[in-house]
Amino acid sequence: MENSEINRLTQLLSDAKAVIKHQNSELTGLLESKSQELEEILGNIDQIIWYIDSQTLSLQYVNRAIGAVFGFTKEDFLADPTLWQKRIHPDDRLLVRSFFETLIPGASQEIRFRIHRVNGELCWLNSRIHHNEKLDLFVGITSDITQSKLQSEEIAFLAYYDPLTMLANRSKLKLQLHSRLEHSPLIPFALIYIDLDNFKNINDTMGHETGDQILIEVARRLRELVTHDQLLSRFGGDEFVVYLNSSDPIYIDNFCTQLGEIFKIPFTVHDVPFFLSASFGISMYPEDARSSEDLIKHADTAMHEAKKNGKNQFVYYHSSMQRAIHNFLHVESLIRDGLKHDFFELYFQPLVSAESLTLQGFEALMRLPHPTAGFITPDAFISVAEKNGDILHIGQIVLEQACDFIEMVRLNHPDPFYVAINVSAKQLHQVNFAHELLEYLKIRAIDPHYLKVELTESAVMDNIEIAGSQLHTLKEGGIHIALDDFGTGYSSFAYLAQLPISTLKIDKSFIDTVCEIDSHSHIVKAISNLAHVLGMSVTAEGVETEQQFNFLVENRIDTLQGYLLSKPITKEEILHNLTTFTPFFLPEKALVYSI
Ligand code: C2E
Ligand code: CA
Ligand code: CA
Repeated sequence: MENSEINRLTQLLSDAKAVIKHQNSELTGLLESKSQELEEILGNIDQIIWYIDSQTLSLQYVNRAIGAVFGFTKEDFLADPTLWQKRIHPDDRLLVRSFFETLIPGASQEIRFRIHRVNGELCWLNSRIHHNEKLDLFVGITSDITQSKLQSEEIAFLAYYDPLTMLANRSKLKLQLHSRLEHSPLIPFALIYIDLDNFKNINDTMGHETGDQILIEVARRLRELVTHDQLLSRFGGDEFVVYLNSSDPIYIDNFCTQLGEIFKIPFTVHDVPFFLSASFGISMYPEDARSSEDLIKHADTAMHEAKKNGKNQFVYYHSSMQRAIHNFLHVESLIRDGLKHDFFELYFQPLVSAESLTLQGFEALMRLPHPTAGFITPDAFISVAEKNGDILHIGQIVLEQACDFIEMVRLNHPDPFYVAINVSAKQLHQVNFAHELLEYLKIRAIDPHYLKVELTESAVMDNIEIAGSQLHTLKEGGIHIALDDFGTGYSSFAYLAQLPISTLKIDKSFIDTVCEIDSHSHIVKAISNLAHVLGMSVTAEGVETEQQFNFLVENRIDTLQGYLLSKPITKEEILHNLTTFTPFFLPEKALVYSI
């Protein structure tokens, strides 16, 4: 070949090389710009996009999002392709490894695992991973689910634990009991229902923060008594329930005694000591019930019995308690019926002056004539209404009907007669009771002198501060106050002298036997003297015989009330008596009767 030819070919070759080189660099440039474009797109996605070698699991590619989740940069991960594995929580490493080992080629699957961020913080990840067999890669998209995971864990925690004391809650206990009954139905056990005594007072007077501190401390002390095969739960408020894996009464007695012991040491909050006690009710499986709901209910019933018996003690459930509850619920439903359909009706029992035998006024006594259950007397429904709070509603009806009655008398008779209404402790302890009562009279344009209020000794003495201020408001408003069932409570004479009370009503039990039991006749005389010394008047209720009548008149009792004079009667009967001037009472040797 000629030289010139060689030169020409060389030239051609070098030209071709130059072209190829140029094209190569163009292609590389294109590739680079494409990969930058891709990086730009992938880099702005929140999720981590990555692929790893399917044999070595070393990282080949990852977008920028990894930085925000792990706290390392993308470059850190590319420089050390196994760094991502080192950040996996040790407990989850096996899980991740076996996931990759079992991932079917061509398929996509999800996995959740934990990693540690650069600052050590734990983070939950969710990855969707595809095995690309052709390229021998695992390709994945990963997101940070810590927030939602924590939230759902928190929800799960809240569903079964009490956040204040960190004890199991009612649902958790029920769940445990259900599974306990399902798996070992032949093995007996016991539940103890614990309720702190008078805890409401602490909450009301010291505030909820102090209350919470005390509950936390109670929980701590209880926890120390409970072993791993028992369950202590907080039922809300100041109520706790312990599940005991035993039904041996000696063991349970012992356990309850220990429970009582933890309350002997005062509970100190901000250096203030609080003395608490608790009442315990016990139910046993299978004797008392076979379902967890009934067992809890019965333990609660027994706890209430412990409260009723004077608190600070433990009581075993007995089926007779259930009957009392049935009765309570029955009466409660009758009360609700009565309120709904306006069945309640006030009766009126005359109060007569012992000296002049003239009518002074009436005591208003509530009745519940029920169309199907019959005529229900207050002894059956007042205590239920006091417990469930319906007494407030009933009290309002009493006031309305008493005012109607006063209006009726005013229209039909020249003399003013007062009406004495009975007021329960619950009503009296309503802060606005006295003001609202006076306000109501004002609206009805009724002179407060026509209304008297009868309160029992205990209603007044149990909460002397509130009761005292209510009594003063009533007195200033012009309402007279009588202390009912006097002699059965524990009135302090010091208070008696200070409170604005105008009448002492001697309890019926003393009048019943005033002619038979010497001590009762002495008591009646003594109360009569006491009342007069204190400038009060005295009433005897339950006067049934002439003998009683004479004794009471002789001993300067001012006012008499009882079947001898008249039973409680309806408004219509009173109206009839008032307009026809028929005497209300007819003792055989009736003295002169006049209205
Ligand atoms: P209380 O206030 O001591 O009323 C006197 C009770 O003795 C009344 O019974 C009356 O009917 C009865 N009684 C009066 N004289 C005689 C008598 O000579 N012999 C006998 N055996 N009983 C007599 P009642 O009406 O059944 O009321 C019982 C209790 O229920 C009342 O005792 C009172 O504490 C309560 N109560 C009645 N009505 C109301 C009310 O409207 N509100 C409230 N909070 N309590 C009421
Ligand atoms: Ca009364
Ligand atoms: Ca009474």
